[in-house]
Amino acid sequence: MKVYNPFTQHPLRIGILGGGQLGKMYCEAASNWNWEIWILDQKKDFPAGPVATHFVEGDFTSYDDVYAFGKQVDLLTIEIEKVNVEALDKLAEEGLPVHPSPKALWIIRDKGHQKTFYEEEGLPTAEFQLVRDLHEINQLIEEGQISFPFVQKARTGGYDGRGVAIIRERSDMRKAMDTPSVIEPLVDIEMEISVIAARNANGEITTFPSVGMHFHPEANLVEYLFSPSGINAALEKEAERIARDAIRTYGICGLLAVEMFVTKDGKILINEVAPRPHNSGHHTIESCSISQFQMGLLSICNLPLPGVRENIPAVMVNILGAEGYTGEAKYEGIVDALSMENVFLHLYGKKDTKPFRKMGHATIVDQDLSKAIEKATFVKNTIKVIA
Ligand code: ADP
Repeated sequence: MKVYNPFTQHPLRIGILGGGQLGKMYCEAASNWNWEIWILDQKKDFPAGPVATHFVEGDFTSYDDVYAFGKQVDLLTIEIEKVNVEALDKLAEEGLPVHPSPKALWIIRDKGHQKTFYEEEGLPTAEFQLVRDLHEINQLIEEGQISFPFVQKARTGGYDGRGVAIIRERSDMRKAMDTPSVIEPLVDIEMEISVIAARNANGEITTFPSVGMHFHPEANLVEYLFSPSGINAALEKEAERIARDAIRTYGICGLLAVEMFVTKDGKILINEVAPRPHNSGHHTIESCSISQFQMGLLSICNLPLPGVRENIPAVMVNILGAEGYTGEAKYEGIVDALSMENVFLHLYGKKDTKPFRKMGHATIVDQDLSKAIEKATFVKNTIKVIA
């Protein structure tokens, strides 16, 4: 299997579809190693604009733009799933290394395909049914084939909790969406965790320790995550095994973030996966022996993958646009937050804010995780993004 080694092959142009914060952090990691990163996204003033080696303005959902971009680079990856897969297919067919593979991306982009894949491959996930529309949901409820409480997930187009409706009883049906969906029983969740796995074309796999996720009750966005997750050693081993099985079964080179439920009765179920860097791996920049971004870069190039050591417990908080403000972003409280020890701030440089938009994140490290959580809560309450 060919190795792409940007340390010795000059120039090796690594292309990334998407110039948001994940693209930006990929560029930052690559910059430390002097690697050349090309980004495709709509506007050069997007987060990755100032740090990319080359920023190509274009639309990653357009066949023509993705295809033309692919022709300019030596290796192609993504930081967002919503890209033109047909163009990736064509580029891969013509010999360009595309990671994750278009086939895996096609499965992952549709929650219905994802769930069917887990079922067929024997990967643990909650039971599910696929429905065409609201009419079919109502029909199945009448026939007793769907019972309350249940969770409806739009097969495509949802993210960060949008496109998910929790239907506890009949009166919640007004929240139900009229769209092709996955229906799952409401799982009795003890904790939500994520394990990021990385794999190279040689088949080497490595994983980051599991992190625990704590959700914002309204926005359904991760409010903070903490590492280590605190699950017991047997569950940790199980979570790692599932993440390894998932990335191997998908045949993905690069990163796969595997979001899982730990159920009250001690089982682990895959909720969903993301074949790219993930919010649940941001803390690795400061707290681990290698960051998810560096690991992602090594794995798409088929370079050897080191094991991961967590040097210090960490908490990551998203810095979200404050409710009630839309427009050019202004920041309050940053200096107060930064005056504390071990607070690492990342602002993404998005020009405009809106409620709950991810504008940045902060990682707080501390040998004592509860102190880090306390400090993270302070940081979250102190930094305000307004307009
Ligand atoms: P998104 O793609 O928007 O992140 P998810 O499928 O991860 O959507 O669902 C968002 C959240 O909804 C999950 O993190 C979890 O808290 C809750 N959820 C999803 N599925 C279930 C389920 N079957 N049972 C209980 N809660 C669920």
